[in-house]
Amino acid sequence: MVDLKLLRTRFRGEVLTAADGARFDSARVAFNAVFDRRPGAIARATGAADVIAAVSFARESRIPLAVRGGGHSVAGYSTIDGGLLLDLGPMKGVRVDSVARRVRAQPGLTWGELDRETQAFGLATTGGRVTSTGIAGFILGSGSGWLERLHGLACDNLLSADVVTADGRLLIASATEHPELFWGLKGGGGNFGVVTEFELALHPVGPTVLGGMLLFARTDAASVCRAYRDLLRDAPAEFGGGIVFLVAPPAPFVPKTLRLEPALGVIVAWFGEHARGQSLLDGLRRAVAPAADLVQPMPYCALQSLVDAGNPPGRRQYWRSDNLRTLDDDTIDAIVACANRATSPFSNIILQPGGHAVASVPDDATPLGGRAAPWQAHCYGSWEGGEDALHIAWVKDTESALAPWAAGHVSLNFVSDADGGRVRAAFGEAKYRRLAALKRAFDPDNLFRLNQNIVPAPP
Ligand SMILES: Cc1cc2nc3c(=O)[nH]c(=O)nc-3n(C[C@H](O)[C@H](O)[C@H](O)COP(=O)(O)OP(=O)(O)OC[C@H]3O[C@@H](n4cnc5c(N)ncnc54)[C@H](O)[C@@H]3O)c2cc1C
Repeated sequence: MVDLKLLRTRFRGEVLTAADGARFDSARVAFNAVFDRRPGAIARATGAADVIAAVSFARESRIPLAVRGGGHSVAGYSTIDGGLLLDLGPMKGVRVDSVARRVRAQPGLTWGELDRETQAFGLATTGGRVTSTGIAGFILGSGSGWLERLHGLACDNLLSADVVTADGRLLIASATEHPELFWGLKGGGGNFGVVTEFELALHPVGPTVLGGMLLFARTDAASVCRAYRDLLRDAPAEFGGGIVFLVAPPAPFVPKTLRLEPALGVIVAWFGEHARGQSLLDGLRRAVAPAADLVQPMPYCALQSLVDAGNPPGRRQYWRSDNLRTLDDDTIDAIVACANRATSPFSNIILQPGGHAVASVPDDATPLGGRAAPWQAHCYGSWEGGEDALHIAWVKDTESALAPWAAGHVSLNFVSDADGGRVRAAFGEAKYRRLAALKRAFDPDNLFRLNQNIVPAPP
């Protein structure tokens, strides 16, 4: 049992326990319903001083600590049974410097909230594809979004971070201050401390972009994937998006014959001149006629919320992802076959193109490797109710089926169970050793271990 008296004397925000009933229950909910956990206490931080207090309290009391930004960890790292959950949700401060094109943002913000603030100035940075995703775990896990081929991953846009380390100090990490710590934060996850503020580079984006979806019958999937692959071979950096295998929603914009049927969506995120984007898409439209053409000029924030409706909180989730060496015809056929065996109407396979700004960052500039990978395949198992084993087996079977083309190094943001082997594989052996040395320097006792854990190097 955690003795909270000491924490309450040091902490300005709420400290909730089961005795707080509904307030405690709503504060402990995670995006992934698989993780229905009951923390010993939830400390809802209002600022850096609260973070220092909670980290110091957990260290001194030797109680397990979980840290939450937006609560979207598919692996359930931001919730805990017993112990202390440090919830950064109330920390939503944000300040845009439109002249310097930078934003300072606190870790309780979601991407929907941050995009709204930066778009008020016609600016944006690479952010999550679902607006409810927290910025904190996303950036610390590298952060992949529609803008990445033009402006890099989220971690490539990180300019500095304020970090509370395991010993309770608040440090500024940047290219010039604690540069090794700064390097580790650009993809090494929550291993090295609690970030209380991010400083990110911004870019002129929109505010109107060309976005939406071309929707095809699933029977056309292999042909569409081939045509999309061929289009992407020479497509400029402004061409973002991807392919999603989905069950079409029963929405008015979906032709009646496709509603609730397996389908294929080409998500379009074009950040250049609209007519040029449309003409690039014409090649695809000519190759296979879409059942619905929903591509149109739209506010950038609307593009960012395009797939929100298909990703509500409260479903059960199990995810695996891999970089692909190639997307040849055999790979495509294997992916289509896997998608056609999906066990839940909410599950998806997503194919995302790499290249341009993602690939042009030197490999050793950030912890994540494999930047040259031309494609990523994400398999998202998502379901309601029971039968976890059935849906998880489909995800694992899909991963096995795609193994011949897998190139490893995938961002751990997209992986449900990041055991030690997977964490090593994501970073590669040399970078893992560098991260383990950094972990020993900043968190030798592994206080921050509810994450894609990097084990401190032995002394
Ligand atoms: C619906 C959905 C859509 C997604 N879309 C994308 C996408 O497009 N691109 C992508 O790259 N990923 C995506 N993800 C994955 C997502 O980036 C990760 O789950 C990420 O961790 C979410 O951030 P969060 O703050 O919500 O996470 P949380 O669950 O709050 O935290 C995740 C991890 O980060 C640590 N952490 C959180 N805040 C801090 C902090 N301030 N300091 C130190 N450590 C911290 C936590 O301890 C935990 O280990 C998506 C996830 C979901 C559920």
